[in-house]
Amino acid sequence: MRDRDIKVYRPRSLNGLLRLYSLDPDALLYAGGTAIALRAAAGRERPFRLPPRLIMLGNVPELGRITRTPRHLDIGAGVTLGRALSTGRNVLPAVLAQAIASVGTPPVRNLGTIGGNLCAGREDGGAVPSALAVLDGQVELRSAAGARWVRAWLAEPRRGEVLTRVRIPMEEWQAQGFRRLASGLTLAAAARLGRGALETLHFCLAGSDFGLLRSRELEDSLKNARLPLAPRARQGFLRELEERLTIPGLGSYARATAVRLAGWFLDRLDEAGPG
Ligand SMILES: Cc1cc2nc3c(=O)[nH]c(=O)nc-3n(C[C@H](O)[C@H](O)[C@H](O)COP(=O)(O)OP(=O)(O)OC[C@H]3O[C@@H](n4cnc5c(N)ncnc54)[C@H](O)[C@@H]3O)c2cc1C
Repeated sequence: MRDRDIKVYRPRSLNGLLRLYSLDPDALLYAGGTAIALRAAAGRERPFRLPPRLIMLGNVPELGRITRTPRHLDIGAGVTLGRALSTGRNVLPAVLAQAIASVGTPPVRNLGTIGGNLCAGREDGGAVPSALAVLDGQVELRSAAGARWVRAWLAEPRRGEVLTRVRIPMEEWQAQGFRRLASGLTLAAAARLGRGALETLHFCLAGSDFGLLRSRELEDSLKNARLPLAPRARQGFLRELEERLTIPGLGSYARATAVRLAGWFLDRLDEAGPG
């Protein structure tokens, strides 16, 4: 087949997209194309050939919507990272805004979409998935057969499914933190504080060596701890985290760096809580 035999579909509604994709689930969904381009650049195939059938998502209005209710914020899968940042400036939780801002460069964020980011795999360290993990974000996956909601950081569409939107609960967080190092090691965290104590902690580490690490048990070990944290509580948390990071393939330097990142967020809690 010659390259010019590529067939490009441009559905104009969500129903049209789902119908088309159910008839041709081997077609490639194409949102901003930035992760597809990155994959092509990393591959051995020269010149890179696009698959024979592409379904462009850019003309589907339902995928471009951002809506807000008192309980949650919905971001359409086709919303670019740049638009999510500018439109949601006063609405996006800080940890998610920082995670989005850490992706690529402004031109990449102006093309790349939130849905494409969640479906592209974790080679880049999982900045957006880790922020969504601490916010308990969900995604809607739809096919011609129906819809289901799953945790955003586990978004893996099945054959024939399209990620249509991301849902973020609107909750108050008194402390939020995000750090991403050049190695790709990422920390995202959010906490609720009240009456001089740490009420709730959500905490996620991500790295190309171990994927995403979020442990409710570890988070709960600091539930209702007084602020500033007692040295024993702090050290116990960091020691437990270090044990959980004893993972084949994760070197001691990366492990120590991850524990240092966690310590950085615990310091922020001490600053945010009444001294
Ligand atoms: C120079 C450069 C730097 C980058 N840096 C980063 C970085 O720092 N961090 C990072 O996370 N990423 C990075 N990326 C990767 C990429 O830009 C982002 O992940 C981006 O958000 C992908 O979105 P997209 O719309 O371009 O996805 P696309 O490339 O269009 O699609 C990616 C994959 O998702 C599938 N897909 C897309 N939308 C949907 C949908 N709605 N439902 C189901 N499947 C879908 C596609 O079929 C494809 O398999 C970088 C890319 C480049 C080129």
